Amino acid sequence: MPDIVKILPADVSNKIAAGEVVQRPSSVLKELLENSIDAKSSKITIIIKNAGKNLIQVIDDGQGMSKNDMHLSFTKHATSKINKIEDIFSISSMGFRGEALAAIASVSMVEMESIYDNQNGHFIEINGGVLLSEKDSNIQEGTSIKIKNIFYNVPARRNFLKSDFVELRHILDVFHRLAISHPEIEFSFINNEEEIFYLKEESLNKRIISIFGEKIRENLIPINESTQIANISGFVLKPEFSKKSRSNQFVFVNNRFIKSQFISHSISASFEGLLNDGYHPGYFLFIEIDPTKIDVNVHPNKTEIKFDDDQNLYSIINSLVKHSLGIYQVSPVLDFDKDPSIDISYNQVKSQPTNPTIEINSEFNPFKVFKDEKVSKIINDDMAPDYKLNIEDDNNQALKIFQILNKFIVSTNKSSLIIINQNLAHQRILYESFLKSIFENSVNSQKLVFPIELTLTKKQLLLFNKIIDEFKSIGFDIIVKNELMLIESIPFGIEKNNVEEVIENILNEEFNVSNNFSSADFFAKRLSKITSIKSGQKLSMDEQEYIVNHLFSCKEPNLSPDNKQIFITLNKNDIENKFNG
Ligand code: ADP
Ligand code: MG
Repeated sequence: MPDIVKILPADVSNKIAAGEVVQRPSSVLKELLENSIDAKSSKITIIIKNAGKNLIQVIDDGQGMSKNDMHLSFTKHATSKINKIEDIFSISSMGFRGEALAAIASVSMVEMESIYDNQNGHFIEINGGVLLSEKDSNIQEGTSIKIKNIFYNVPARRNFLKSDFVELRHILDVFHRLAISHPEIEFSFINNEEEIFYLKEESLNKRIISIFGEKIRENLIPINESTQIANISGFVLKPEFSKKSRSNQFVFVNNRFIKSQFISHSISASFEGLLNDGYHPGYFLFIEIDPTKIDVNVHPNKTEIKFDDDQNLYSIINSLVKHSLGIYQVSPVLDFDKDPSIDISYNQVKSQPTNPTIEINSEFNPFKVFKDEKVSKIINDDMAPDYKLNIEDDNNQALKIFQILNKFIVSTNKSSLIIINQNLAHQRILYESFLKSIFENSVNSQKLVFPIELTLTKKQLLLFNKIIDEFKSIGFDIIVKNELMLIESIPFGIEKNNVEEVIENILNEEFNVSNNFSSADFFAKRLSKITSIKSGQKLSMDEQEYIVNHLFSCKEPNLSPDNKQIFITLNKNDIENKFNG
């Protein structure tokens, strides 16, 4: 068997944009995983200790290396993947600089075992780029590589590493990107002896669900289109699944994760009018394009890319996403084929006389209060008789509560029509229940597997210190170190995905004593405002009933926490006056 690793000619290596390969543990993991993928592995195991600071190990069942190749692979510009400069532009494999292992080995302690073809397995140990020892190994297949104590010989860089939480987050980002683009590979991810991901070989949508959880399933909208410029496929997420952060945005070009402002922009523009301010759509977009029509070397980390034909690509992606949103009834259906102007803006479409209906997922409500409470039993006898609803009247089984304009709930009592502002009503309900929790200290919280980390401004920190007890009493478990906030537990019922937003929203407001009775009052007001259902949200029957019943069980059903009128009533006289007036 011929050895396959070659030293790159200097001119080739110089033409490749150089970049620091090793910035942090996650960049090591990325290089190792890409090598395993290039080696045609079908199963990859990742073992991480202390967020990769002590150990990053990757075990694969790929083609392996000969003894000679193992040595060569740690030499700068040693690669089996490029021979001449043209190869760079047509390369389809993942890594191609031939310097990753050399760079990694120079700043860590490496142990590698590999077996190639029918040769004997071999083991080598390298510290700081210097060969320490080697021997035979009884490894049965593929390659196992351990990177220990990264930057042990560059203390300044080691000190520069962030907390374990931050580094682990980066590691998981890298893992997610590669696991999504390679659903055909089985992955096991072991963090500090605990297997936190086991992903069997599966389809792309199953892989996305395996990583992000069952809830994402019904939010996946498939996209698929072949054009002369590129083939585009993947999924966009329904607007309800949008987030304040961009963490659900994945773009792969020729199956490699990239960041591209113009692609993000093109997709965001397709969502125009469907998202609340400050929210970003989620997507998993795969672009297949002729490699000679792109330049992937514009950025040393190769996550940025340049397209020759970016104008057209922009329009294609933009209309494709709009079209898919339309088909899935998330936005008004646009007839893709008949649409003469492919760039028709969503605003123009929206101004057509028919009202777009946007189905909003009720799960969006972070405090899943709506679950299974049923109407009639809850009606409270202490309620002011005027507000008592007619719903137990058997003669009147027909529609008693309904929603109009996705904003108001209409109901009746014996003599009047009641029109309730759904947002203000829900604020009142939540406000009273939060206050109760705060004073009774009566909430359940859920511990997060991965604590959420937030960096606070000085101002936010100041406010946080004032209301830390409220946060705790409602079920948050928060540690603050300097300006870093670490959220370890959250109240049961708050969506993990909404936590950052909720906290930032609370802490961005000014707490002043004149508007608020107390810090508890302030906290409950803010939280109810942020987590209440909003105007524009279509409500199910159960949700409407929930609002009506719980509102009228509140201590003060008339006014919102900010003293706005929650509902109006029209009695017989009011209505008759309308006709006579
Ligand atoms: P590059 O991936 O750019 O070629 P690297 O420094 O990452 O450079 O790796 C050097 C060489 O070592 C690769 O070209 C490949 O031949 C070999 N190699 C590295 N990791 C593996 C692996 N897991 N399985 C098989 N061969 C590998
Ligand atoms: Mg590589």
